[in-house]
Amino acid sequence: MSLRFRVVEDAFKKSPIEVVAPKERPSEYYAKYVFNREKMFHYLPQETFKRYCEAIEQGTPLNLNVADSIAQGMKRWAMEMGATHCTHWFQPLTEGTAEKHDAFVEHDGKGGMIEEFSGKALVQQEPDASSFPSGGIRSTFEARGYSAWDPASPVFIIGDTLMIPTVFIAYTGEALDYKVPLKKSLAALDHAATGVAQYFYPEVKKVATNLGWEQEYFLVDEDLYGARPDLLLTGRTLMGHDSAKNQQMEDHYFGSIPERVAAFMKDLEIQALELGIPCKTRHNEVAPNQFELAPIYEECNLAVDHNMLLMSLMKRVARKHGFHCLLHEKPFNGINGSGKHENWSLTTDTGILLHAPGKTSEENLRFAVFVVESLMGVYRHNGLLKASIMSATNAHRLGANEAPPAIISSFLGQQIDDLLDHIEVSSKEEFFTLEGKHGLRLDVPQIPELMIDSADRNRTSPFAFTGNRFEFRAVGSSANCASALIVLNTAMAEALTHFKTRVDALIEKGDSTVSAILDVLREDIKKCKAIRFSGNGYSDEWKKEAEKRGLDCETSSPLIFDRYLDDATVKMFESMNVMNFHELKARNEIKWETYYKKLQIEARVLGDLCLNHIIPVATKYQSALVDNVYKIQQTFPTDRAKELCAYNVDLIEKINKHLNFIAENVYLMVEERKKANKIESEREKAITYHDKIEPFFDNIRYHIDKLELIVEDETWPLPKYRELLFIR
Ligand code: ADP
Ligand code: MG
Repeated sequence: MSLRFRVVEDAFKKSPIEVVAPKERPSEYYAKYVFNREKMFHYLPQETFKRYCEAIEQGTPLNLNVADSIAQGMKRWAMEMGATHCTHWFQPLTEGTAEKHDAFVEHDGKGGMIEEFSGKALVQQEPDASSFPSGGIRSTFEARGYSAWDPASPVFIIGDTLMIPTVFIAYTGEALDYKVPLKKSLAALDHAATGVAQYFYPEVKKVATNLGWEQEYFLVDEDLYGARPDLLLTGRTLMGHDSAKNQQMEDHYFGSIPERVAAFMKDLEIQALELGIPCKTRHNEVAPNQFELAPIYEECNLAVDHNMLLMSLMKRVARKHGFHCLLHEKPFNGINGSGKHENWSLTTDTGILLHAPGKTSEENLRFAVFVVESLMGVYRHNGLLKASIMSATNAHRLGANEAPPAIISSFLGQQIDDLLDHIEVSSKEEFFTLEGKHGLRLDVPQIPELMIDSADRNRTSPFAFTGNRFEFRAVGSSANCASALIVLNTAMAEALTHFKTRVDALIEKGDSTVSAILDVLREDIKKCKAIRFSGNGYSDEWKKEAEKRGLDCETSSPLIFDRYLDDATVKMFESMNVMNFHELKARNEIKWETYYKKLQIEARVLGDLCLNHIIPVATKYQSALVDNVYKIQQTFPTDRAKELCAYNVDLIEKINKHLNFIAENVYLMVEERKKANKIESEREKAITYHDKIEPFFDNIRYHIDKLELIVEDETWPLPKYRELLFIR
């Protein structure tokens, strides 16, 4: 039996793995494996605990004495939990996370070993940075990167290992990861938003950024996955004819969850809760075998860590249940891809959600300010924001018929649109109505939060307002959330800073605060109008309209990455103290390199599959047909034979046509690749891969998929779409 049929048969026989839920209630096992504040309070000396809390609240660094003391408590807890190793866990610029494990042992100086874990080990380690991409920030001979604990993210245990979330920095000081710029962007936004929030609430001292992500993914039976070299090596199918049934019936979304999947989800949720990830919703997505998981929103830095952790947990738990978890944005052609929605908002330390409308007119003015300045940031840097979510994999999803287009715009909903229009056209006099002894009264209409939320939701908008937050939907399912947030936070910080400068200038001149705010707000509402769009983002008219509005409409990923080096970008990141030009340049080198490498691998896999799988199988089938025709010709008189062979002769010719096309184009593609590989510049190489090599993929695929329909099912070597998508 061929591999394909063996794995299909095995997959059919699999039954759900039993998952035993812990005896305690979720609230009791929640964060069981996390050294959170509650456990710190228990395991750390009082003074140390106090210093730790101060460091977190004020963002001051921990000194080595305090770190030592924390390390002792941490070690005690970890060993009680059965941990024997520890690792610094960080987020290099390759998507995903990296680890460096060490055992808790040191020489005791007497020839033996003692269990040791010092503050120094906690706050600084030197993993070899030479094998992580760093875009030339440091060449391999100075292979030093430091990782240091991010105290804002609690350590946790997986298996026998204490995992320590860390930042990763080159020894020359530049960030080699996502965490450093993310934390800097959060600090910049905190500072800028606090300044503006104080116009309304003078007691505010700090503003935190919230992130609630929604993670989409596909599950495929692990054995079927293993029988598809393209899935295995590139994360997506490079070929495969549509299944006769896919998502047309729309019966998967909110349908009942298949048993094996339900067991996986239950297991995943228990383990995620134990790791302190506050999972809340799970459901089927639109496409067959596609699902979604969303936790409750958290502080942004922690939420990003939790998403990274969840993605690796998903892969591990899936394997246990005989699945492979596909995080690729577009594993299958013709059906929906996977995204990661990022729900984003700001909250003050006094508990006010700045992106939510309030009960009074003053509060609604505050609300309008934060909504409009979010739009200003997105408007001014819409091309950059697109660059932040663009990748070789997400490029397949964006602009496809179900995903946001490769143009960033924002949908606000009727009520907010009306509110902003009202502010825009009203004269200052109309805003203030004299009201007896109360003095001035502001005429900003009220909007109940609940009404906005469910009133109308435009699913086609990449950056939609959803009641008390913005939802950024262009992010790819496999991405590190931080990439987009670094841009979003910094753009917002810049917008708010700019807003405050202008308002302060007017106040200086003698305007009242409210009047100054209104003037600047009105100015900005006019300026950022181009980013507001409530129509159908999938339509062709929108592409034309967006171009007219001056929004970034570039679709080639390597060219989209150029936005990272625009003057406006560099100015924004440098003035907000998030990244410098050197770092931006280095990061872009990595983006281009990662981009072409992914295409390079796809091109190789496609070529190999054509030559080793598709062409031989189709040729064999063709020979069988030729054989049949020949025998008929031997058996029957010419005229009769012609009649009898007509169908097969036609097939033989069709197969020939497809085979020739495939063979010829694989050859041409290899030739183009040879040329491209000689190009020195990463950018040029990426552009060449995009322009010259990628177009071969779909063309070759078209002919393979035609062959899949012709060649007898028995001999087709690769599991078909219907098998990948409907067996679970
Ligand atoms: P959807 O209808 O888009 O699926 P959900 O209610 O499932 O929305 O919420 C999606 C995510 O948004 C969740 O993680 C939720 O906690 C988060 N979320 C809700 N309110 C906010 C907010 N104000 N700021 C940030 N995230 C939020
Ligand atoms: Mg959502």
